[in-house]
Amino acid sequence: DAQQTGKLRYQFYLASIGDKSKAALLLEQELRQGIERGEFQLYYQPKVNMPTGQIDGAEALIRWFHPKRGFVSPGDFIPLAEKTGLIVPLGEWVLRSACTQARVWQDAGFSPLRVAVNLSGHQFNENEVDLNGLVVDILKETGLNSSYLELELTESILMENPQAAIATLHKLKSLGIRISIDDFGTGYSSLSYLSQFPFDVLKIDRSFICQLPEDDKNRAITIAILQMAHRLNLKIVAEGVETKSQLMFLEEHQCDEIQGYWFSPPLSAKDFSDLLHSGKSLPLVSASC
Ligand code: C2E
Ligand code: MG
Ligand code: MG
Ligand code: MG
Repeated sequence: DAQQTGKLRYQFYLASIGDKSKAALLLEQELRQGIERGEFQLYYQPKVNMPTGQIDGAEALIRWFHPKRGFVSPGDFIPLAEKTGLIVPLGEWVLRSACTQARVWQDAGFSPLRVAVNLSGHQFNENEVDLNGLVVDILKETGLNSSYLELELTESILMENPQAAIATLHKLKSLGIRISIDDFGTGYSSLSYLSQFPFDVLKIDRSFICQLPEDDKNRAITIAILQMAHRLNLKIVAEGVETKSQLMFLEEHQCDEIQGYWFSPPLSAKDFSDLLHSGKSLPLVSASC
């Protein structure tokens, strides 16, 4: 009967809650151990300059190689790391490792690359982290010039506390660091509102790029973002470029940088070094005419 069904449903509900928190607790514990045991690695995805077609930067993307679970995607553990506060030590490790690696590539004689690091809201909250101080320390430690560091932030991080965000960004920018807005277009802010924040680069979210150039609406939106951003003196990066026709469209509309599987997936530091050695560049239409 109905009452019985209701009871059963409630029991299922309790069971599923119990399972979820148990699984989350286990993962949290493993996350802590993983940090101690050094199970994390940074992968690097090339950013290609347009119109030169040369690699001019790399986005550092964290990878977790768990001894039993195998590869765990950042989409599966970053949210938990954020919820538990573990993102603070993990994020510090990311920043330090990325700057160290950028310096290693410079010392190896490659033309200097800008390394981009993703930040979480916790790292941007001055009650939790002195981000400015941390960045200053790490640049000093690693000897990386500030102009080769880029920080990627999402709109939602900035919108949590816009006034504090503006102040923090001004401080970071005065160090000479480049600031990017990641996943642009997926949040709720307009570009005109966002332009009150001091930043340098806008990364158009993959969800717009993936339907180019066939989809009329996405085409119109992308062209509008590019034009408006350029009028505001911002650089534009397209993320998730997977096809030649996407590339040609972005090239035609003066996108400044592209990133995506079309050129290269994220690579281990070793594979990225090999790519740099190979001298691979992106063949662009404009370069051939
Ligand atoms: P994101 O910063 O927007 O990074 C771009 C994501 O798109 C990466 O996923 C990358 O591997 C993927 N990608 C790049 N090119 C293509 C493409 O052509 N096609 C498709 N389908 N995907 C592409 P990943 O590495 O799984 O990272 C996911 C998200 O996790 C990142 O999104 C970022 O928000 C977060 N994340 C990664 N590393 C870190 C980190 O060190 N710290 C923090 N706070 N977040 C991180
Ligand atoms: Mg990013
Ligand atoms: Mg992104
Ligand atoms: Mg994205």
